[in-house]
Amino acid sequence: MKYVSTRGRAPELEFEDALLTGLARDGGLYVPAVWPHWSKDEIASLAGLSYEETAFRVMRPYIGASITDADLRAMIEGAYSGFRHEAVVPLRQMAANDWLLELFHGPTLAFKDVAMQILARLFDHVLAAKGRRITVVGATSGDTGSAAIEAFRGRDTTDIFILHPKGRVSEVQRRQMTTVLDANVHNIAVEGSFDDCQALVKAMFNDHAFRDEVSLAGVNSINWGRVMAQIVYFFTSAVALGAPHRPVSFSVPTGNFGDIFAGYAAAKMGLPVDRLIIATNVNDILARTLETGRYEVGKVVPTISPSMDIQVSSNFERLLFDAYGNDGETVTRAMQSLSQSGAFEVEKAAMDAIRECFGAVRVDETETAETIRRTLAETEELVDPHSAVGLAAAARLRGDASVPMVTLATAHPAKFPDAVKKATGIHPDLPPAMADLFQREERLAALPNDLGSVEAFIRERARSVTV
Ligand SMILES: *Cc1c(COP(=O)(O)O)cnc(C)c1O
Repeated sequence: MKYVSTRGRAPELEFEDALLTGLARDGGLYVPAVWPHWSKDEIASLAGLSYEETAFRVMRPYIGASITDADLRAMIEGAYSGFRHEAVVPLRQMAANDWLLELFHGPTLAFKDVAMQILARLFDHVLAAKGRRITVVGATSGDTGSAAIEAFRGRDTTDIFILHPKGRVSEVQRRQMTTVLDANVHNIAVEGSFDDCQALVKAMFNDHAFRDEVSLAGVNSINWGRVMAQIVYFFTSAVALGAPHRPVSFSVPTGNFGDIFAGYAAAKMGLPVDRLIIATNVNDILARTLETGRYEVGKVVPTISPSMDIQVSSNFERLLFDAYGNDGETVTRAMQSLSQSGAFEVEKAAMDAIRECFGAVRVDETETAETIRRTLAETEELVDPHSAVGLAAAARLRGDASVPMVTLATAHPAKFPDAVKKATGIHPDLPPAMADLFQREERLAALPNDLGSVEAFIRERARSVTV
């Protein structure tokens, strides 16, 4: 499988190099040059398979021949053996034809573990084969950082630096990152928002001298490997609910558009997806774009679903590229307009194509809290605020009752205990293995929102620096 950049000006890469490169050198994101496509029979044959076997079959066509079947299977086994549920990502019935896909049974209690656990193993495998060491840098609004740190901790092939917006992640989220004391783990609290952190990471990737000096690699959802690993659970859940013989809809709590883009990829591969619902909090750039055709960055507002407090949804660029028929020139112009004036218009034909499969709903803070409360009253399930945004959006765009509606539960309620307690009066407990989180020692560095300071910090500590 070859990978091309959404801006059309970076070299085509094989899987291994797209994985290690993250952001393309022309500023674009890597996507498969062509989508693998499965027949109805091939999809039907997934019925009854384990999560691991489905993961193998879904990811295999995206991965180069240099990774053997046996190695890939072993990495998948390792990635999911630590999940607290046998099914890895169980489906829970909420109403007659409404389901919750629980993606939070991994080590850091959010869906990002599903992709990060396999991503770190793929990195390690490819780097060890090449005899290379890299520096992973990522920005987090809370959950990516802890999932990445947990997946990469102690690995000799990588040093990991995670930037989070100081004071804007929950205490559980912060401690899950800062209490990992392995020598290859470095936490940076940036004086700014998540978008500032993401902008710093992008700037480091665009500083080619620095990028080469420290062998920079990215694990944000701009990394194709993340999206690839998330395609799997759209297949497992849809097949469990009757696909390919009937279509299924998904409501996806959305920030950077990585998770929902994986659902789009599944549809591209032939999975019958009726609707993909973009569920956003009041940081509603995507809901506004669907409504108006204009993608316009607003101001980030802190909410009780902080992992979605984002105004630049990086992976939307992948959808644009597809909607424009792989026209990198048009995507480049849109992105130039975005960086110059903070906005761009999506052409009508592309916008119509996007509206064909996607709907979008903005859920405010009151409705989120009310959904947490009502879900507990009606189903006895405690849900976290991100999952609640998904449930509220699903209810609003429910449509045909005969189509199963799957809402992605992206975090465990104990990851956001304050919001859950405020809505329900119940304090959600951490799983036993994490019960002493608040007693553990923390390590982090606070830095200004300044590229030079952050680069200097990394240069001093990265073992991959060539001198
Ligand atoms: C990251 C995250 C999201 C948003 O996912 P994207 O792939 O960035 O759209 C939603 N919910 C939780 C709990 C998350 O950690």
